[in-house]
Amino acid sequence: MNAARRAATTIRPDIQALSAYAVGHAEDAIKLDAMENPYGLPDQVRDAVAAAARATALNRYPAARHDALDAAVRAAFGVPDDAALLFGNGSDELISLIVQACCEPGDVVLSPVPSFVMFELSARFHHARFAGVPLTPDFQLDLPAMLAAIQARQPKVVFLAVPNNPTGGRWSDAAIETILAAAPGLVVIDEAYQPYADGTWMPRAATLANAVVLRTVSKIGLAGLRFGYLAGPAPWIAQIDKLRPPYNIDVLTEAVLLAVLRYKPVLDEQAARLRASRDDLARELASLPGITVYPSSANFLLVRFSGKMGANAVHQALKTRRIRVRDFSGGDPALADCLRISLGTPDEHAALMAALRDILA
Ligand code: PMP
Repeated sequence: MNAARRAATTIRPDIQALSAYAVGHAEDAIKLDAMENPYGLPDQVRDAVAAAARATALNRYPAARHDALDAAVRAAFGVPDDAALLFGNGSDELISLIVQACCEPGDVVLSPVPSFVMFELSARFHHARFAGVPLTPDFQLDLPAMLAAIQARQPKVVFLAVPNNPTGGRWSDAAIETILAAAPGLVVIDEAYQPYADGTWMPRAATLANAVVLRTVSKIGLAGLRFGYLAGPAPWIAQIDKLRPPYNIDVLTEAVLLAVLRYKPVLDEQAARLRASRDDLARELASLPGITVYPSSANFLLVRFSGKMGANAVHQALKTRRIRVRDFSGGDPALADCLRISLGTPDEHAALMAALRDILA
């Protein structure tokens, strides 16, 4: 039997036409490509994690309820008491569950573009149609275009990454308010980068008729755990919860998260340190020839190269110097000359700047 032929006649043609989500590998490199927190956990926290893992029974399935984790997440991240809460294996999983819960085949998922690619991929995986509404040339939200597209396409789900990945901007509360009023279905306010921004919609998570607030612990130092949470009015969360695989939060994730959240100020302090370094790095980058740095409310900077050397060539040159950033050439044409650089430690920023001065000289 020829497996390739059988797969080709069985797997959905639209899936065969896709390329898999690329995850970069970079051992021994300065990793500024994935919006991770570069600081490890201090010994005291690592000891608590080890003790929690040791005390966890691996032979049992996870419990049906996560009451202790629920209370810890609410306390650590300011989830209102009257909001319902749903946990996911990363916020990626919650994005997928939201689309599954809301969309019948052919229904529309809408988001500004460029934005987080999983909004479009999740739509496609679940037979929904994706409507991308281009940002303005300087990567601001085009509110009139958003409202026109919402009116014309009647999306079941609108995803708003606030701040936006990969551009870094944070849409104004007034603009989001206007979108909420216009949207006929659910609006997902994805606050993955909120710890690096001013403002949050979380306090209103229980009170909005057609919105939920999505968060992750990935960008504050726990990307390896795979844990995201969705807060919103109970009538929405209860329906989306029906699609959740029963054991999506494994026992180690739960135990480790409970242990780490007792030291939440450590994570806050690291995020504050990263955030405080953002303006300095932006200023240094902007002083290089032919470089535009876009304003960012996240733990990364989007940078456009309009000099002799294109973003792709700079990306390759950084790679040979063992510095990883994210290159967007080959994707959305709006990002053609852009690299996304995640914030790192002061030493990593110094190494990046030395390499770029050398490359661009
Ligand atoms: N939302 C946004 C806007 C993101 O940029 C990302 C990660 N790149 C995610 C959600 C997914 O994060 P995770 O699955 O690690 O929680």
